[in-house]
Amino acid sequence: MSIDTVGVIGAGQMGAGIALVCAQAGINVLINDIAEDRVRGALATISGHLSRQIAKGQLDEAGRKAALDRLGIAASFEELSKCSLVIEAAAESEEVKRKIFAGLRSHLKPETILASNTSSISITRLASGTAHPDRFIGIHFMNPVPRMQLVELIRGIATTDETFETAKAFVVRLGKTATMSEDFPAFIVNRILLPMINEAIYTLYEGVGSVESIDTAMRLGANHPMGPLQLADFIGLDTCLSIMQVLHEGLADSKYRPCPLLVKYVEAGWLGRKTQRGFYDYRGEHPTPTR
Ligand code: NAD
Repeated sequence: MSIDTVGVIGAGQMGAGIALVCAQAGINVLINDIAEDRVRGALATISGHLSRQIAKGQLDEAGRKAALDRLGIAASFEELSKCSLVIEAAAESEEVKRKIFAGLRSHLKPETILASNTSSISITRLASGTAHPDRFIGIHFMNPVPRMQLVELIRGIATTDETFETAKAFVVRLGKTATMSEDFPAFIVNRILLPMINEAIYTLYEGVGSVESIDTAMRLGANHPMGPLQLADFIGLDTCLSIMQVLHEGLADSKYRPCPLLVKYVEAGWLGRKTQRGFYDYRGEHPTPTR
């Protein structure tokens, strides 16, 4: 099955990135969000990104216009009925995602493939709340979507070969590389990455190092392009905490215990870059550590 129109639910940092790469691959996109201003924000982010591509000589004005013309807003799930693929990229909460899938039930064509961009939640469990678990799959993009080459594909227990092959062809059409992960908590990338970030937060919590020394240590000592605390802010501390909770509950191993300091930041609403404050404060000219 070829994908002509993609619906994206959730117009946050991931939804905006997914919409952009689809539009630039010649696919029509309809964006939906529970908060209308988030959709406008996503369109502004996309427009800014395309302008930067023009400034770098990677895109011309006609290319920018063609991409923008492929983007539309779906004010309701009903307006997603013509999509051949719908990708859910809303908040990392099983309850939120289940509600979305229940709401979509009566609006999608029988052959539509439904995907979740979840970072950690069981695809099999999410699929069980949909009308067609055989046409449900995890399509896990990395952040920032336009820059990152990898997309993890995760099959639920009922996902058919046809659904998997269609999703794989879609990823290839976006110019990205698909890897396959089995459906276990947090899949491959986040199973490895998030415990490292959580450990960095414990290192801060226990006073082993400051924000700056921990990030500098991992940038210069392990050659990571970003320090782990900078990366946590970039991912979103609420998303980091949700992933650690899924690992902790799903694998029932105390080594995945979320650091209490991470919990505290999330409770304060200091969620990283998206709220201007996390392990760094982004409100000034340069990010400054908050501890
Ligand atoms: P975000 O907080 O930037 O955006 C989430 C968006 O979902 C918000 O705009 C919110 O209004 C919207 N939303 C919430 N409930 C909704 C509903 N019922 N219907 C429609 N929209 C709703 O989050 P994000 O970082 O873009 O993450 C989105 C998803 O992508 C999560 O599942 C996350 O785990 C996953 N993901 C995140 C990253 C990352 O680095 N941040 C990487 C890969 C995957």
